[in-house]
Amino acid sequence: MRIPVIAGNWKMHKTVAEAVATVTELKRRLAGVTGVKVVVCPPFLAIKAVADALGGTAIGVGAQDCFWESFGAFTGEVSPEMIKEAGATYVIIGHSERRQYFHETNETVNKKVKKALAAGLTPIVCVGETLAEREAGQTERVVNDHVTKGLAGLNAHEVRRCIIAYEPVWAIGTGKTATPQQAQEVHAFIRQRLAQLWDSATAATVIIQYGGSVKPENIKELMAEPDIDGALVGGASLEAASFEKIVKYNGPMT
Ligand code: PEP
Repeated sequence: MRIPVIAGNWKMHKTVAEAVATVTELKRRLAGVTGVKVVVCPPFLAIKAVADALGGTAIGVGAQDCFWESFGAFTGEVSPEMIKEAGATYVIIGHSERRQYFHETNETVNKKVKKALAAGLTPIVCVGETLAEREAGQTERVVNDHVTKGLAGLNAHEVRRCIIAYEPVWAIGTGKTATPQQAQEVHAFIRQRLAQLWDSATAATVIIQYGGSVKPENIKELMAEPDIDGALVGGASLEAASFEKIVKYNGPMT
């Protein structure tokens, strides 16, 4: 039985004070929610304050990236161990914005995933095709590459500790959501590949989130698909009120 995970990716939004104010409101709005795991991923600088503000609640905290070494002469980078010490237990890896603007590759994603797991973090590994790739009929090839290379060298136990976020690049921040059927097709494909690469019990265990313009209006139909186990939410996670509606896609749940 997979417990859905709904994570908010705040990207480069919110000062420390704004982040604390948002989670303070979220804590109140989500008090007593059951049946879904909630995670917020603020900018690095706000992780500690957000984790402190959420202390004693079931809401988890994640970073939006990490480096693949523990320490050293890597100016500007942040290690998984540092992230963990600040109070986060999740880390987004290989988001399409990092692949696009910061030249991340499947190989760097793989190094980060391994290091994050070694540090005890749960990686949220992002995969997904661009519009041009979809239109060229390349969706499965690209997603397969992201999954196969991003998780290369992991054993089944390690794969089960990962979350995969299927985020079609054309749906991120565009207001264009994949239809539930389009998303389900790719989620089922990912699960089938996990079964082939590892085993069917592992494939059945891994949480596969959908991401790309998830809103209160479309979450319910996405979550009704059998292989969609949660969401990675950008824009609609910034306001506590809209994130609350997404988390409570099934009704009040308290
Ligand atoms: C994201 O950044 O992971 C994302 C899915 O963004 P949005 O929900 O704004 O499309």
